[in-house]
Amino acid sequence: MDSFEYNVNPGRIVFGSGSINKLPEEIKRLNASSPLLLSTSRGTKYTNKLAEILRRASIEPAGTFNNAVTHTPVSVTDQAMESMEQKTADCVVSIGGGSVVGLGKPLSIRTGLPHICIPTTYAGSEMTPILGETDAGKKVTRTDPNVLPAVVIYDVDLTMTLPIAVCTTSGVNAIAHAVEALYAKNTNPILSLLALEGVKVLAEALPPIIQDPSSKPTRERALYGAWLCGTCLGFSAMGLHHKICHTLGGSFGLPHAETHTIVLPHALSYNAPAIAKQMRDLATVLPDSEGDALKGLSLLLKSLNAPRALRDFGMKESDVDRAVGLVMGAQYSNPRALEREGVRELLRRAWAGETAR
Ligand code: NAD
Repeated sequence: MDSFEYNVNPGRIVFGSGSINKLPEEIKRLNASSPLLLSTSRGTKYTNKLAEILRRASIEPAGTFNNAVTHTPVSVTDQAMESMEQKTADCVVSIGGGSVVGLGKPLSIRTGLPHICIPTTYAGSEMTPILGETDAGKKVTRTDPNVLPAVVIYDVDLTMTLPIAVCTTSGVNAIAHAVEALYAKNTNPILSLLALEGVKVLAEALPPIIQDPSSKPTRERALYGAWLCGTCLGFSAMGLHHKICHTLGGSFGLPHAETHTIVLPHALSYNAPAIAKQMRDLATVLPDSEGDALKGLSLLLKSLNAPRALRDFGMKESDVDRAVGLVMGAQYSNPRALEREGVRELLRRAWAGETAR
């Protein structure tokens, strides 16, 4: 057996339908009483709902900031800090997708206040000690255990409105975390169990959501799978797939979950020659794979009507070479050495929407 190290990230998870009603208890557990509520501009309904729950428990929010946007621009965090300084907040509550979680993290770091996170997509940021921020068109990430939220509340009820297109791409985004955890340089047996279970649960739950978006048990399974996959992201060093998506999001403005969905089969295909065991393991949890993980993934993406081409999201063919340069320039571990021509072909296929092979 390979040697390994296993770290347990701190943090508390409250999972279940209706669990946002436990927010007042969670605030009190942290010895706090005056939360700042965060959302995007489209998420005011969430912060209004939280304020109502809190007031019923005699907790008055310190205020709300509804301007979170994707990729955590430092300028927006500065605005939120200004708004916070005028208030007497003693904790931060973020509710929404990764964009809102991404604002709660730097606010918590800058102020030292605890962060309660209520995710409404499957992106997984709430489970990671990673802070990604964009400044002057460049996305920079750093890892710090203090970035981890103190509490994460997973409430399936909030995800019932997640449009099918977001649900499927966000779900595949979560699967990508688990896939890369299987071959991460710091993987371990527990992580592999979580990763395979996360892929299995999501691969089973996502297609039925398309058939019946109102099915709460299926949406709940998907959220559970997303938690497992987010845990994988938080514990392990990601490889080529995540680095490519990070580059495409940060430097070309491509949308996060859609980019992960399009790139995953190509990145997996590139790494396949170096990860024979992981490919076999992955095939066991992807329905109808017949022992071939790439086939299983391709069938899953087909059943989800998932987007397949980066060019459909505004990437130009001439951007491919610039992206290759950026990807090759970054230093990170990956099971297969980075070869310029191979990476270029991977990106070209993802750009054109060709089948991974
Ligand atoms: P997002 O937060 O932008 O949400 C995607 C879309 O879904 C938005 O239009 C949003 O309004 C909508 N939405 C969210 N919840 C909804 C709901 N319940 N019902 C209806 N619509 C809903 O995107 P995301 O994919 O969740 O997160 C992406 C961001 O998170 C990126 O900035 C990415 O870099 C970051 N991220 C960071 C980490 C990390 O570890 N630091 C990990 C994953 C993602």
